Amino acid sequence: MMELAKRRGFIWPSFEIYGGVAGFYDFGPLGALLKNKIIQKWREYYVIKEGFFEIDSPNVMPEEVLKASGHVNHFVDAMVECQKCGAAFRVVDLSREQTGKDIEGMPKEEMNQFVKKHRVRCPNCSGELGKIFDFNAMFRTAIGPGSQRVGYLRPETAQGIFIDFKRLQRHARGKLPFGVVQIGKGYRNEISPRQGIIRLREFTMAEAEVFFDPDDSHHPKFSELAGEQLRLWLAGDQQHGKEKLTEVMAGEAVKQKLVCNELMAYYLALTKRFLLDLGIPGEAIRFREQTPGQRAHYSSETWDAEVSTERFGWVEVAGLAYRTDYDLSRHAQFSKEDLTIFSAGKNKKVICHVVEPSYGIDRPLYCMLEHSYVSEKKRKYLRLKKEFAPIEVGVFPLLNRDRMPEKAREVHEALRAGGLMAEYDDSGSIGRRYARADEIGTPYCVTIDHQTLEDDTVTIRNRDDTSQVRVGISGLANTIIDLIRGCS
Ligand SMILES: [Zn+2]
Repeated sequence: MMELAKRRGFIWPSFEIYGGVAGFYDFGPLGALLKNKIIQKWREYYVIKEGFFEIDSPNVMPEEVLKASGHVNHFVDAMVECQKCGAAFRVVDLSREQTGKDIEGMPKEEMNQFVKKHRVRCPNCSGELGKIFDFNAMFRTAIGPGSQRVGYLRPETAQGIFIDFKRLQRHARGKLPFGVVQIGKGYRNEISPRQGIIRLREFTMAEAEVFFDPDDSHHPKFSELAGEQLRLWLAGDQQHGKEKLTEVMAGEAVKQKLVCNELMAYYLALTKRFLLDLGIPGEAIRFREQTPGQRAHYSSETWDAEVSTERFGWVEVAGLAYRTDYDLSRHAQFSKEDLTIFSAGKNKKVICHVVEPSYGIDRPLYCMLEHSYVSEKKRKYLRLKKEFAPIEVGVFPLLNRDRMPEKAREVHEALRAGGLMAEYDDSGSIGRRYARADEIGTPYCVTIDHQTLEDDTVTIRNRDDTSQVRVGISGLANTIIDLIRGCS
């Protein structure tokens, strides 16, 4: 699948002609189209249906913001260096690779003992490892010349939302709950990323911050999702080494206090719906509750939405964190601004609490590609959901003569004018052209043949079952748009 993704222009390593740099990937022409479709789907969920406000704030942040948010002190990875060759590693990764055990969240002293006891060594030269220390994973820079002012590339988009809270609550007319989203790049200076597209140093994220009165965590549309089945891997079961998943409806999960509140349960269910919508099968989705040691410094309860993959095992694609009033309280304290909101019900000011659904975009894209890849005896194809296919329709002249290419180009132009991402292809046999379209998940192919020249009809071939129907050229763009939407 990765070979296909590189060859056909979905994703490829960045800076390739200079030898590449780990942790950076380019989205090629098809990957960029697919990525934009995922982002658009996310907007449909959070901006249109949830009615959240979208903002767009800078990637570079001054140090004071990230001191207040806790990232300067806490956005760290446990790191270790080989004493022989000097190579640097993330301790948790090395331990997992060499012992199969997950030591994420373990106190540093215990980690040192663990490394000694299990004889974790440098994978490059088998050298002994030094003492474990914290490495701050933010990219540091200077704002303006002379480097008087320290800046960082943002580790999350969320902080841009918190620091605009005063303006945002006015925009929401002081009504709770309200949500604000941001879609953009986030940065994490990984120590030694070795998992390709899964561990990136620069990634695209889509985050929503839901502000609510801590005494009222009700979601107005909860009844719509209360019956959604969730597969939960509870922290307690993980700590006892149990792989068992608890299957429970979102509403029940709140009643049984497995999930902290209704808002959290609602967004867990919504996340599941979103992943299903991307074409990830339900049995490949689970929610893992982070153990106290694994949680970020700002969170009192976090659920990771994970997708099962062949290549990387379970992959975290979204994190849902109960950030309490941590961020707003800290920014109020550090900026000396009033970041409270007036609660009409209580007739007094309150500091909002926050539930945050935070999604990666790159990882779900990888998961979609892997889950849609079908390799059958006779053919290989991407069974992407039709609405996500980067190229929506292929246009082929059956033969390169008898005015067929000219007619096919006319049809191609008409489809593009009708708003479809159409691709013209006249090289090689018609079978080869179908195979190339299948390989990138193009759901429909239109072929111009002898009969077209006589009666202005074409064939439309369906990617999934290779069946063909003959239809008139007039209104062809709308016919295909209806097919993609599944309403014809
Ligand atoms: Zn070494």
